[in-house]
Amino acid sequence: DYFKLWYTVQEIVMCLVLSLLSQGSRSSAVRLQALNRPGVCGLDNSGNSCYLNAVLQCLCSTVPLVEHLLNQDTRKELCRMAEVFVRLLEEMWLGRSSSCAPVEARSVLCSILPQFNNYSQQDAQELLLFLLNALHDNLKKMRSSIRQPRQDQNRNCATAAGESTIVSHLFEGTLGYMTLCMHCDHQAHSTQTFTVLSLPIPTDNIKCSIQDCLSLFFEQSILTGTEQMLCSVCGLRRETAVLTCLEKPPEILMLHLKRFGCKGRNQVKLRTNVVFSMRLDLTPFLSSSVQNTSYSSYRLYAVVNHAGHLNMGHYTAMCHNTLTRTWHCFDDSAVKEVQDSLVQSPNAYLLLYSRKPFQKPKIYGL
Ligand SMILES: [Zn+2]
Repeated sequence: DYFKLWYTVQEIVMCLVLSLLSQGSRSSAVRLQALNRPGVCGLDNSGNSCYLNAVLQCLCSTVPLVEHLLNQDTRKELCRMAEVFVRLLEEMWLGRSSSCAPVEARSVLCSILPQFNNYSQQDAQELLLFLLNALHDNLKKMRSSIRQPRQDQNRNCATAAGESTIVSHLFEGTLGYMTLCMHCDHQAHSTQTFTVLSLPIPTDNIKCSIQDCLSLFFEQSILTGTEQMLCSVCGLRRETAVLTCLEKPPEILMLHLKRFGCKGRNQVKLRTNVVFSMRLDLTPFLSSSVQNTSYSSYRLYAVVNHAGHLNMGHYTAMCHNTLTRTWHCFDDSAVKEVQDSLVQSPNAYLLLYSRKPFQKPKIYGL
């Protein structure tokens, strides 16, 4: 019980410290107000919604996505849910205030996803994936309804291109798996698309690099016991070696650090300081077939940080703005410009990289 009490005291102190820290940075936000920088807009916290705000900041700084969504032709196709988010992005890029309240976006989100309809902490990675999937489905549906007459004539002609949207074009990559039956040496190859790579963190160090996490993800593994795979030659489940590689690197690479895990029966947060730089080269993980043809050097443009405990923490975002060419720290409604060297943080949870540098966004009215 003493332990429990101590834990509670710790959480209260953590909350106080976090709120004091965000108070402190509010003065910087006031200074930014006069400058009114497009794409640099704080988001008010509507009761533990920092995870939503941090995710929205990442989407707001994804220039090709914003350009596409704010295009008038795209907006004609959007459903109400997507349009609410697009209006918010528009306000963040073209609005005149230093922060706005994502009230409508939050209520739309709650109406379709009941688990977000409370004031408890939610996972930023799950939300980001949910938003991107919803947007992808919406854009796909709208396009297929426009193309309906033609598709009826040739129903089998649902090409891969017809399934693609700005979301899949930007965020989707392909992983290749080479499996080897340890009994008969039969090899098989399969692929899978992904939008985020969830990277394990080496647990035996207090500090490691993002390359260490990637190496661990792409490391050869042996599936044993209940994980054994069915070998088509043996006709039985066998021990299988699996080699994972990157078959198609995405335009925008999202890396998720698996900080929340289990240690025995207890849920824990891994606090390993994962060191990353502004550049990331994925060449060592490319499949041999694309090794020389694919450009796989990435630059960092957004980071979601998680400070504090498992269920009692605070999300903030660091995003690079293409107009000012500087980084900003977004702590709900408080925004401050930060130096490149301060982007690295032991609290990093999600990292967003782009293959091509973003250009000045082509947004009508900017
Ligand atoms: Zn076999």
